[in-house]
Amino acid sequence: MPELPDLEVIKENLTPRTVGRTVRGVKVFFPAFLKTWDPPVEELVGRQVTEVGRRGKFLLFHLEGELRLLVHLMRWGWVWHGRSSYAPTRATAFLLSLDDGMDIRVIEPGRRKLARAWVLPPGEAGPVAELGLEPLAPSFTPEALRGVLAGRRRQLKRLLTDQHLIAGIGNAYADEILFRAQLSPFRYAHTLSEPELDRLWRAIPETLRWAIGEIKRRIGDQLTDREVRDFLWVHGRAGKPCRVCGTPIEEVLVGGGRTDFCPACQNVNRPPAG
Ligand SMILES: [Zn+2]
Repeated sequence: MPELPDLEVIKENLTPRTVGRTVRGVKVFFPAFLKTWDPPVEELVGRQVTEVGRRGKFLLFHLEGELRLLVHLMRWGWVWHGRSSYAPTRATAFLLSLDDGMDIRVIEPGRRKLARAWVLPPGEAGPVAELGLEPLAPSFTPEALRGVLAGRRRQLKRLLTDQHLIAGIGNAYADEILFRAQLSPFRYAHTLSEPELDRLWRAIPETLRWAIGEIKRRIGDQLTDREVRDFLWVHGRAGKPCRVCGTPIEEVLVGGGRTDFCPACQNVNRPPAG
């Protein structure tokens, strides 16, 4: 599932392909993809793309006249860029044809079509309004994080992946952040000491920025359907030795997600509480 670092790289790589281009056509391939009907998606046609942004796990295409197209790739979605003459595959959810003969397409290969989009008129934030702190923004201060965590009797892993509190972090990067912060994913937020809170605060943007750099190093300026995760320290490495201390990485399955951690580096008491 794409998370903040993946989406940040997609945003950066989409920018030179789209900004300054005018939309020549749009097509929605399954009705549930589009969550809004006013303004109609055809309103995008004839407008220039002025900027590509990201907020949490949403991609934002800004168009002339302050219209915005919001895209959420959900679990399996990815973005394709190629010639408009290339016939759309059955996995195509949406396409935006540009005036240079190229398309931007949202590909949803999952059996359940989960990717979604919103066309927003000026002044409307849509689902983005419900998002929590943006971890790479200057407003992500220790005080802001403390405000979000204050008194919460919730485990750190669940808290970090709650988009209403902090936006953009999913299963994989929550594990990486907690490894970097040397904190157990099962710790309750209200039990953190000041130094631990500080460690967590530093680890969040550090981990995300590091991951953005690693992904860019591997895919360059390309758009890819690959999930680039081979550089991670704990997530997806269950059973393998920790790269710091050699202890086997452990895994706990909760709901549909897995939590991977180093029991030694992260000082995990077993059995995990909750
Ligand atoms: Zn370790």
